[in-house]
This record gives sequence, C-alpha cells and structure tokens, in this order.
Amino acid sequence: MRIVPISLPTPFYIGPVNVYLIAEDPITLIDTGPKTKEATEALREALIKARVRVSDIRRIVLTHAHEDHCGLARALRDEAKNAEVLVHEWETGHRVGRLEYEEHRKLLARAGVPDAEIEGMRKMYEGVRKYADSFAENEYGPLWDESELQFETGALRIIHTPGHTPGSCSFLREADRTVIAGDCVLKRITPNPVLSPDPIDPTKRFPSLAEYLVSLARLRSCSPTLVHGGHGGPVHDFEEVIKLVPKAGVSAWDVSRAMFPETDDVHRFLAVSEAVAHLDLAHSEGRIAVEFAGGREVYRRA
Ligand SMILES: [Zn+2]
Ligand SMILES: [Zn+2]
Repeated sequence: MRIVPISLPTPFYIGPVNVYLIAEDPITLIDTGPKTKEATEALREALIKARVRVSDIRRIVLTHAHEDHCGLARALRDEAKNAEVLVHEWETGHRVGRLEYEEHRKLLARAGVPDAEIEGMRKMYEGVRKYADSFAENEYGPLWDESELQFETGALRIIHTPGHTPGSCSFLREADRTVIAGDCVLKRITPNPVLSPDPIDPTKRFPSLAEYLVSLARLRSCSPTLVHGGHGGPVHDFEEVIKLVPKAGVSAWDVSRAMFPETDDVHRFLAVSEAVAHLDLAHSEGRIAVEFAGGREVYRRA
C-alpha cells in the first residue's frame, strides 16, 4: 500500500499543507488542501504524476475539518461522483463552517476577550470560510476509532486523536507502523489546541490540551517509525504559561496577550485557544486556581 505525500500551497501563515494519496483501490485522498486555484492546480499536477484521475478517487478522508485540510473536499467529491467523504463525528464545530459562532462567542467572553476583539475575530473567520465548502449533515460518513480503512493490499487503522480539534483522527499502517497524523503531530512544534465547544455538551469547552496529551500518549504506544504530519506553526511550552499567571489573577485573554504580544486577528483567536488550553490543563493538575468573577474566569497561581 503506497502512501504518496503531496504538498499543496495555502494562503495561511502556516504555509503549505500535506495531503496523502493512497494510490490503490479504493483510491483514497487523506485531506484535500484549501479551496484555492493554486492548491487545486498543484493537486491536479500531483495526481497526474501519480497516474490518478480525480474521477478515480473513491474515498476522501479528513484528518480534521480545518480549511487548509478540507477545503476542496466537496469540489473533489462532486467531480469524482462516487467518492464518499469521511470525517469523525466530533468534528462538529468545524465541519459545517468554521465556528459554531454563538458557542464560541460565549467561550471567548468567559476567557475575558473584549467584545471588540471577538467581533474582529468573527470578521476574520468569515474571511477564512471562503477557503472551504461546507457539507450538509447527510453528506459525509463517520470515522470510527479503532476501525480500519481497507485497501487492496493493506489497511489503515483509524485512531481518534482529539486535541487540535475534537474530531481529529490519525491513521496507522500497522505493517511498518507509519502514521498519518494530520495536525496532531507536526515537526518541531505542537499544534494549537483550538478553543472549541465540547461536542457532547457545547455549553462547555472541550479540554483540548488534556485530550491532546492523551492522544499523543496513544500514538506513542503505537511505536510509530514514521509520522506524516500536516505542517508547522508557533509553539509555547507549558512552564512558560504557568509563569505568566500571577498571584493577583488574570484572564486567559491577559495570558494570551503576554504569550503572543504581536498578533493579528487570526492569531489572536489561536493565541486565546493556546492560553485557555494550557490554563485548563494547569488547573486540572492543581497548579493554578480559577474563579468565576464578573462573568469571566480569573486565574491565580496556586
Ligand atoms: Zn488544523
Ligand atoms: Zn493544518
């Protein structure tokens, strides 16, 4: 079973995205690239090189539903006619358009983000949505943890690896312990534990970083020999975040501004996500205290 990595350009700060072609029956594309002319052309060229036509694609599997990974899924599915699209059921907040907006607004307000900033983030995400077509509820099939995607000469085991997003999945080829990990594992950096509503109870936030650490441990237990990741981006480590929490108390927004002082709108949202995720984890480990005051959470060094 041949895994063909394909690098596609994106309009995002993170740079090119890696998608993976499994060039045997049923011909499968893992992730698709964003909906841009440049990515479409680069993908077509790569498929031609691999002697695959878009109309040969039978299965489109999404590691997660961020625009750079899922943007072309609907266009490819429509062109391939019989292709099915598979994504994990927990990918709710991202699958049908990027943000379940009301839920996100509440999560951001609780994190102490000022209203004007929230409005800026909302506008920015409206801009980002053009890089992906969304799907209706009945247009995709589920990815089940621990089940297998069968191919002519092998299989990929689905490993649900939530963290970066609730529905992120990785794929393990057991024969040589190769893993396709999407944004769960990136070279040199850790992915942003994106602020998301909990898929089971959307009024709560998803414990992204704690889930992510469990996912990493799970992948580690598979003893991967090679991990194909999605791409690169900024990282901030755990200890650094704890140092930013004073005895007097701060909101996640304050922490994110200290962690990432120079950020534009898109990265401010990611910065708040990063801060909230680390603060949640630190709180769950008893290293910092949190209280609800004046409609927002205030963190203190324990
Ligand atoms: Zn992503
Ligand atoms: Zn990505």
